Amino acid sequence: MPLSIVSTPIGNLEDITLRALRTLKEVDFICAEDTRTSKKLLDHYNITAPLTSFHAHSTDQKREAIVRRMKNGESAALISDAGTPGISDPGWILIRDCIASEIQVIPIPGASAVLSALVGSGLPMDKFLYLGFLPLKKGRQTLFKQLAGEKRTVVFYESPKRIVRTLEQLSQYVPESTQVVIARELTKMYEEFIRGDINHVLDALKERFSIKGEIVVLLRISAK
Ligand code: SAM
Repeated sequence: MPLSIVSTPIGNLEDITLRALRTLKEVDFICAEDTRTSKKLLDHYNITAPLTSFHAHSTDQKREAIVRRMKNGESAALISDAGTPGISDPGWILIRDCIASEIQVIPIPGASAVLSALVGSGLPMDKFLYLGFLPLKKGRQTLFKQLAGEKRTVVFYESPKRIVRTLEQLSQYVPESTQVVIARELTKMYEEFIRGDINHVLDALKERFSIKGEIVVLLRISAK
């Protein structure tokens, strides 16, 4: 039986498709990154399918057990804490294993922070480079050097604690004219976009007593 990859909200509980809700109600079990987090969402929608955990540190045995259940006729859904499973979230290895075991994989599209940030950014989105979370140490400087001439819009996820430091470091490698968009708390009550050249955005962030919430960073480094 198939594995459905189900996108869930990134903040606003209304951001879930009818197909996602129907799938979550119909499957025999749901693989969730954090069962306690997902239980809140599932309770909200009266979804009672049993949950099993599947996260970045799940063992091979755990994955094999999930695949075996599907081979034995059970249908499953994969969800993450928020957004689209597999996008900077666990997922791809289970998907790979299902495909190798000839289990049908069905994507159920929906919310993802990267696409919501892009469409609200005002930056070109015909081509973009998605970097997930930046490396914290090894490869960080090399990546910044490589980004210096990037023509596509660059998108990455960043923690509010690191955002100022990351932009400060980046500003040493990219032109002053680099356009930056910070998309913060998307779909939530305090959703906000901070837009401008890199120094303007840095100043705006530094003026704040603290920076909270979840953040997507977008860059237009080199105008085409
Ligand atoms: N799978 C998710 C998706 O499809 O967007 C991403 C998961 S990743 C572990 C979590 C990161 O996504 C956060 O640290 C933040 O950078 C970004 N993010 C998630 N929700 C967000 C939101 N509501 N607003 C802004 N950024 C968000």
